[in-house]
Amino acid sequence: MQVKELEKVEAAGIFGTLTQMGHEQVVFCNDEATGLKAIIGIHNTVLGPALGGTRMWNYASEQEAVTDVLRLSRGMTFKAAISGLNLGGGKAVIIGDAKTQKTEAFMRRFGKFVNSLGGKYITAEDVNMKTADMEYIGMETKHVTGLPESMGGSGDPSPVTAYGVYLGMKSTAKKVYGNDSLSGKKVTVQGVGQVGMYLVEHLVKEGAKVTINDISEEKVKALVEKFGVAVVGAEELYDLDMDIYAPCALGATLNDNTIPRLKCAIVAGAANNQLKEELKHGYMLKDKSITYAPDFLINAGGLINVYNEYLGNYNRKRTLEQAEKIYTTNLSILNLAENEKISSQEAAIKLCEKRIEEVGRVRIPR
Ligand code: NAD
Repeated sequence: MQVKELEKVEAAGIFGTLTQMGHEQVVFCNDEATGLKAIIGIHNTVLGPALGGTRMWNYASEQEAVTDVLRLSRGMTFKAAISGLNLGGGKAVIIGDAKTQKTEAFMRRFGKFVNSLGGKYITAEDVNMKTADMEYIGMETKHVTGLPESMGGSGDPSPVTAYGVYLGMKSTAKKVYGNDSLSGKKVTVQGVGQVGMYLVEHLVKEGAKVTINDISEEKVKALVEKFGVAVVGAEELYDLDMDIYAPCALGATLNDNTIPRLKCAIVAGAANNQLKEELKHGYMLKDKSITYAPDFLINAGGLINVYNEYLGNYNRKRTLEQAEKIYTTNLSILNLAENEKISSQEAAIKLCEKRIEEVGRVRIPR
C-alpha cells in the first residue's frame, strides 16, 4: 500500500478520487450472513466489460481496501487497452482472511453480487483466490473466467504470462543492445512463484546467466536443483552486477531506495505496479538510462489467456499468438518514449488513452 495514495483518497474524498482516477462505478457488497465484505471497482468500460481478478486480503483498514481496488482496476484498463483487447478495466477486493473465511456460501454470495452487475464486470482469480473459488462463483454467474481445465476453462494463466514477460524482455534487449538474444545476459529474477519459475525456464533455455531471489527457501532450492541457477539474498539484490532485473514478486520495488542502487540496463518483469510512483519513478529510471518495459503491457499474457477463455472455444495456440504481440507493442512503446523524450510508462499510458478515446468515439453514437 502506498501511503501517499492513501492520503490522496482521504484528502479528495471518495467521489473526488473517482474523478481524479477516472472511475465509472464502485460497488460495495455486504452480506451479514456470510461475513462477506467486498468492493468491486469498475474503472472504464469504453472498450468492453471490465475484466479483472478478485483479491482477498486482510486489509489494515477499509480505506486501504478502497485504495487498492481503485489502483488495481485502473491498471486493468491500461492492460486491456494496450493489449488490443475489447475489454475495460475492473477488479474486486474482498476484505478478510482467506484461510479462515472462505466457504462455499461466502464465494457464492460474492458470485451473486458479480451477477447483479449483468456482465459489466467479469471476475477471475487474483491473490488468495483459487480455481475452486471460481467454480463456486461460477455457480451464481456466468461472468467469471479462469476456470479449471476440468470445467472447460483455460487453467493456470501463469505460463502465458511468463511467455509474454520473456518476449517483452527480449524486445527490450533488442532496443537496448540491437539484438534480442538473452544468451550470456545476467538476469536477476525476484520471486520464483508461478510466473517467475516459468520465466526462469525460458531464460535458462536461451543461455542467460540467471540469479534468483525468493523468500521461500523451498522454491529457491527446487529451482537451483532443476536449473543450476545462482541465488542472491534480498539485501544484496539491488546492488548486484546484472544486465536485467525482473521483478516477479511484489509491486513497488522500483522506488527512491532501490533505483539509485540499480546497475542494470533493463527492468522487465511480471509484478504489477512495479513503479512505486508511476511518473516519478518512471523518470528516475529514464534518467539513469535504465530501459523499463511497462509492467501492464508485458505481464498481460494472463489477461489475454482468461479473455480467450471468456470468448469461448479456448485455443491455446491462438492465445499464445496474441501474447506474442507483446514483443512488437513493447518495441513501439520504447521507440515512442525515445522519440518523445518521455518515460516508457508514460508512453504506454498515452497509447492506451489514444485507443480508448478513438474506439470510444467510434462506438458512442452522437
Ligand atoms: P506467486 O504468488 O505464485 O509468486 C510470487 C513469488 O514471490 C512467491 O514465490 C513468493 O514466495 C515470492 N515473494 C513474495 N514476497 C517476496 C519478497 N519480498 N521477496 C522475494 N520474493 C517474494 O505469484 P505469481 O502468480 O507468480 O505472480 C507474480 C507477480 O506477477 C505478482 O506481482 C502478480 O500480481 C503478477 N502477475 C501474475 C500473473 C499471473 O498470471 N500469475 C499475471 C499478471 C501479473
